[in-house]
Amino acid sequence: MTGLLEVRDLACHYAVAQGGWRKPAPLRAVDGVSFELPAGKTLGLVGESGCGKSTTARLVLGLLPPTSGAVHFEGELVPARRNARWRALRRRMQMVYQDPLSALDRRLPVIDQVSEPLLIFAQGNAAERREEAAALMASVGLTPNLFDRYPHELSGGQRQRVVLARAIIMRPSLLVCDEPISALDVSIQAQVINLLQDIQERFGMAFLFISHDLKVVRQISDEVAVMYLGRIVEQGAPEEIFQRPAHPYTQALVSAIASPWLRQGSPRIVLEGDPPNPVEIPSGCAFHPRCPSAMPVCRQQPPGLVDIGAGRTAACHLLTRQTSGTAC
Ligand code: SF4
Repeated sequence: MTGLLEVRDLACHYAVAQGGWRKPAPLRAVDGVSFELPAGKTLGLVGESGCGKSTTARLVLGLLPPTSGAVHFEGELVPARRNARWRALRRRMQMVYQDPLSALDRRLPVIDQVSEPLLIFAQGNAAERREEAAALMASVGLTPNLFDRYPHELSGGQRQRVVLARAIIMRPSLLVCDEPISALDVSIQAQVINLLQDIQERFGMAFLFISHDLKVVRQISDEVAVMYLGRIVEQGAPEEIFQRPAHPYTQALVSAIASPWLRQGSPRIVLEGDPPNPVEIPSGCAFHPRCPSAMPVCRQQPPGLVDIGAGRTAACHLLTRQTSGTAC
């Protein structure tokens, strides 16, 4: 194993009731996802709502049992059950949620919430725990007059700083950030991203960073994975993904961003329709009903994820034919 985190063929399928006498239908929330994340690096996970990003995050942390596949963290298999081993591993991998207000207890002063993990893992006495929490809160930009306030007395940006301080107080080696800035004002988002980068530099943590904001993902990631209907369809370095998107779905996502660092003169690609119902995933390539480049084979055979050069992988028949030299 080379990475801090290694995810192999991870799948999470549910049986969804159909009503009446109809048999429950399988919902493939995550369907064969694999990736590695080295220590101290950031993997950005992008895709439309419902593509399986957040389910992948929960599977990685062992908050959901996988239907199949495995997650190894620091060389150890993350248990499917919440046993003593899982609790020990969870100390080293923490989560930052989208909505800081719902992630915090409204009845407790924020400093008590930041120091709580130290209490749970029996670290130091009360005075030492408070001292460590105060030092960490100050280092993430919270002033002492805020320490004994309640979550509802803070702004959204201050609350997210509290959540971050609580998440890193045990010095985890992995931080899973699920849309950590989408609930914040635009003016605050840049500050929180800068703070995350600062935390990574200071403590050497790896981030699994989930967001639909491609500009932020480009700024913060060392590697980017694009998901569509539970599968990774393209993965590579951010400069490759954003300058030379290869998969038609990635091309459409990237074309929707207005930014000077994108390939100049690329037309906006507007996809037809919404993502299909995950209970009725189309045959062959799941993207074929919306793909402007779909071919007959796309309706019949699912494309596998293959190496397309420059350290990149993609799942598309078009690219497989190009790399193997077959005419379309
Ligand atoms: Fe489009 Fe076919 Fe590639 Fe799927 S496999 S993205 S339908 S060209």
